[in-house]
Amino acid sequence: YRHGEASEVAVPTPAGTVYFGENHPLVITAGPCSVENEEMIVETAKRVKAAGAHFLRGGAYKPRTSPYAFQGHGESALNLLAAAREETGLGIITELMDADDLEVLGNVADVIQIGARNMQNFSLLKKVGAQDKPVLLKRGMSATIEEWVMAAEYILAAGNPNVILCERGIRTFDRRYTRNTLDLSVIPVLRSLTHLPIMIDPSHGTGFAEHVPAMSLAAVAAGTDALMIEVHPNPAKALSDGPQSLTPEQFDRLMEEMAVIGKAV
Ligand code: PEP
Ligand code: MN
Repeated sequence: YRHGEASEVAVPTPAGTVYFGENHPLVITAGPCSVENEEMIVETAKRVKAAGAHFLRGGAYKPRTSPYAFQGHGESALNLLAAAREETGLGIITELMDADDLEVLGNVADVIQIGARNMQNFSLLKKVGAQDKPVLLKRGMSATIEEWVMAAEYILAAGNPNVILCERGIRTFDRRYTRNTLDLSVIPVLRSLTHLPIMIDPSHGTGFAEHVPAMSLAAVAAGTDALMIEVHPNPAKALSDGPQSLTPEQFDRLMEEMAVIGKAV
């Protein structure tokens, strides 16, 4: 069990340093599943920034179940994220799937996301552990808490102390009414087990936009340090994860609701 103080992860962004951790205000990461084009990413960035988000999320390299599904626009999407960063001052969080892309992605990302499917890709973990950018480590969809914390340990052991743990739902029985089962019990468990900041992703955790607000509020009430929420200007037309994406208007409403409970936003 944990000994000592909660650690903080300080992330410099164009709008100032954002701190993740138990002793800091709630950090909000929002944006589309995938970066689709310049107009949509810049528009989404402006909207989530105006609502109070600190980071823009958006995938350039997408881990899709089918090889025939949209795979992300890769390096050109990274350039669009850089444009959105420039335009809004938001920090950027985007997923690294292949260590070969580390350099180009690291030029744009303020936080490097390791997705659920790569949680135990130990060679990738060692590589992000051997560089300086903070790392967001998503829980594998069938990973125990111990496996997840040990995966984080690979990054720490390689020399990078700046790791944030992100719960994004695990596989249980249901696939129809929930895409995954969002395990909010990790908040008190991780708090007693580790010193690392905690993020909750209710978008992948539920799979349905209509369930995202309730689970966001629950995560805040349970003491999460950060949230990741998928937001798309037109979810019905999204190239990935439309059904779980909030519209900017729904995101505005959720941010207002969150401001009245738990840690101040
Ligand atoms: C994502 O954040 O869009 C994503 C693919 O997440 P996960 O790795 O949790 O499935
Ligand atoms: Mn997604």
